[in-house]
Amino acid sequence: MNDGPSARLMSGTDLAREIVDRAAARAAEVAKQAGRCPSLATVLVGENPASVTYVRMKRRRCQQAGIDSRHVLLPASTTTPALVSTITELSADPTVHGILLQHPVPAHIDERAAFEAIAADKDVDGVTMHSFAAMAFGSPGFSSCTPGAIMRLLDAYQVELTGKHAVVIGRSPILGRPVGMLLLARDATVTFCHSRTTDLPAITRGADIVVAAVGKPEFVRGDWLSPGAVVIDAGYNEGNIGDVAYAEARTRAALLTPVPGGVGPMTIALLLEQTVDAACRQAGL
Ligand code: NAP
Repeated sequence: MNDGPSARLMSGTDLAREIVDRAAARAAEVAKQAGRCPSLATVLVGENPASVTYVRMKRRRCQQAGIDSRHVLLPASTTTPALVSTITELSADPTVHGILLQHPVPAHIDERAAFEAIAADKDVDGVTMHSFAAMAFGSPGFSSCTPGAIMRLLDAYQVELTGKHAVVIGRSPILGRPVGMLLLARDATVTFCHSRTTDLPAITRGADIVVAAVGKPEFVRGDWLSPGAVVIDAGYNEGNIGDVAYAEARTRAALLTPVPGGVGPMTIALLLEQTVDAACRQAGL
């Protein structure tokens, strides 16, 4: 039995519920004032089982919050021009307020070209270069949902960021990079780590805040963490396993996000919130 110190858990479930409730109330207000519910278009290419599940979850949450969802399912053989054309049409459609292209798309598609076809004012998943630049410069815009979710969790648990050393493991355009930019904008000292980083354990041991966004189950070990660190596990691997060795991290960290129930539900909550924001802006409310 382990009787060492135990990290406080950062519950995303409770916080997400509050955000979704607020989004639902605002969605009802938009429907009343604009005569139309906020609407999110979800685009799925192929039928990757995990992606099918994520899109289904997102659509169900939309429905529960009074947000219309329009689903576009395209075959795995879809070409880049065909996908770009579908997204361009959604971007021009005044009945669609937000667009989500489920990531990843099949390997033969130029994902960046597809993301860039999303109109900036409908980029509620925060995946375009426009949204990334806004995040990097601290300008108004839609944040990438998982990075935005992480920042909201840190704020809800009153984690001091100024001057703190944040180590982000992972540099993907939808997660590692943008969360690093958001932390930098809040005056953290940020180190990005990736597959070519040497001596990762030594770097993370120097971190006040660790964000694990690697996509490898239990990759970050307990002895990589300095006692009292704040640990955000953004990973979501098969079997509901995060990127951090949970039991080990609990004995070292001061604060830790559980998987599931940490970053995941917050990501969907931010998507709904940003869809309602988009609908408000487009309706001039
Ligand atoms: P990704 O695009 O595959 O990126 C993984 C990153 O990890 C890359 O930057 C890669 O480095 C780095 N990496 C791989 N092996 C490494 C190693 N041995 N040491 C250090 N870094 C290494 O993944 P992603 O889309 O960012 O997702 C990351 C995780 O977050 C996954 O578990 C995913 O399921 C989860 N996720 C969760 C949510 C949510 O809503 N909770 C949303 C999105 C993603 P290189 O750049 O050098 O290849």
